[in-house]
Amino acid sequence: MNAVVREYGLFFNGKWRKSEGKRFETRNPATGEVLATFPLATPTEVAAAIKSAKGAFEAWRKTPAPRRGDLLLEAATVMKRRKEELGRVVTSEMGKVIAEGRGDVQEAIDFYTYAAGEGRRMFGETVPSELPNKMCMTVRLPVGPVGLITPWNFPVAIPGWKSGAALIAGCPIVFKPSSLTPLCGAKFVECLDEAGFPPGVVNMLTGSGPVVGDGIVAHPDIRAVSFTGGVDTGKHVYESAAKKMIKVGLELGGKNAIIAMDDANLDLLLDGVLFGAFGTAGQRCTATSRLIVHEKIYDRVVGDLVERASRLKVGNPIDEKTDMGPVASDDQEKKVLEYIAIGKKEGGTLLTGGRKLTGGPFAKGFFIQPTIFAVDRNSRLAQEEIFGPVLSVIKAKDYEDAVAIANSVKYGLSSSIYTNDLRWAFRAMQDLEAGITYVNAPTIGAEVQLPFGGTKETGPTDTREAGTTALEEFTYWKTVYVDYSGRLQKAQIDTARLAGG
Ligand code: NDP
Repeated sequence: MNAVVREYGLFFNGKWRKSEGKRFETRNPATGEVLATFPLATPTEVAAAIKSAKGAFEAWRKTPAPRRGDLLLEAATVMKRRKEELGRVVTSEMGKVIAEGRGDVQEAIDFYTYAAGEGRRMFGETVPSELPNKMCMTVRLPVGPVGLITPWNFPVAIPGWKSGAALIAGCPIVFKPSSLTPLCGAKFVECLDEAGFPPGVVNMLTGSGPVVGDGIVAHPDIRAVSFTGGVDTGKHVYESAAKKMIKVGLELGGKNAIIAMDDANLDLLLDGVLFGAFGTAGQRCTATSRLIVHEKIYDRVVGDLVERASRLKVGNPIDEKTDMGPVASDDQEKKVLEYIAIGKKEGGTLLTGGRKLTGGPFAKGFFIQPTIFAVDRNSRLAQEEIFGPVLSVIKAKDYEDAVAIANSVKYGLSSSIYTNDLRWAFRAMQDLEAGITYVNAPTIGAEVQLPFGGTKETGPTDTREAGTTALEEFTYWKTVYVDYSGRLQKAQIDTARLAGG
């Protein structure tokens, strides 16, 4: 046990504040150790944090975007300096292995660095007018204070993506981290505070989804919401936001497939499948949860894959030699074990794993073996998001069959094809119903300078995080007409007269 468990408060209007609310603990999913306690913010405190964001909006939107960029760059510098500390907190609180914990923080550093540069671009357009001595252009404007609701699986990276885009756009943020990873949220906010954002620009509330999450989304002063999490919660957020007609960015997971064609480089394929399926214990929205294999190579791929998966070292994720840590929580463990039971009941063939690890170093954690099933393409294991270390393997007759299987799910986030044949690679880029397609790489590995998002029930296609599209979630277009002719000119009407001479 920790000698002293730190009690955190809420962060708004530039200060950490004591809360009137009850407290909850955050624990290490590998050891059960209590890491810190946090408040369940009350509705009054939710309103106070939003008021502080609203109060900061006017000055923040008027701060020149390159100056806002300077602060983002400073925050990236602070995170770089504190990377090891933050990476260890990610691993201790969420359970991903330490190399991935550091990677989580690096993603936030990368995006802040990228978004800082956006402060010097944020391009609009100039467009010719149909009338003389008149100029037309578009400019981006920030929507106002925004709510960011984030999950536990990328507890620094996802807050980094969302807040970096909102802040550079000129929107103060009210950020609610997952109740499983508030410590990561608090450490991230400490970095922003250290960088020197003005009071009220960055605000963090911890607490329950129904009180804090709903409270943020429904509040009249919140003008956009960016949410990552489960489908049911995402749909609820979408409905609530629709009542206010505000922008919503939703990223709700996937059932991502790798297609292995018969000409694939098999060593490369196996490396990719193992990383895609069991990295972060399969708890990535882009995790490889299906492997669709051409029938000509099926037996060999399955044999080698099972052999390699059964050798993965499961253990405490803080140990550099561990390949896979625990799942993030008791609920995650129950859900994954339920799916393993469903797989067996449905007649899937359990090829390896399938058990909770208990006793010794596993006694106090949520450890599940890397698990592989051979399944029918219509089974629940082949169709539903499991969000854990369970890979479903499905046999395909040919390219067309493989793509039909890949597209048969309700999600559309990431996808991949392993092939050395350009015909299949280029066709897959067009044919796979997903926001992301990798060629000869697993379904994970997004880079911050490119758009990230999906289609179908992964979320609406009109918003994309990261890349040049990141600003769309938090800005709207203003069209400006400047008439310097000195007389009333009438669009559509005068044009006809001019054309006629
Ligand atoms: P949730 O969707 O419940 O949680 C995501 C975030 O939403 C958390 O901050 C949560 O807060 C918040 N939230 C919960 N209820 C509300 C609400 N009514 N209004 C607004 N915000 C709310 O996901 P879980 O953590 O419960 O995970 C369940 C499943 O969701 C996973 O097994 C996985 O399938 C999927 N998931 C997908 C992710 C992805 O990357 N797309 C990430 C995480 C989960 P709080 O933590 O306080 O409940």
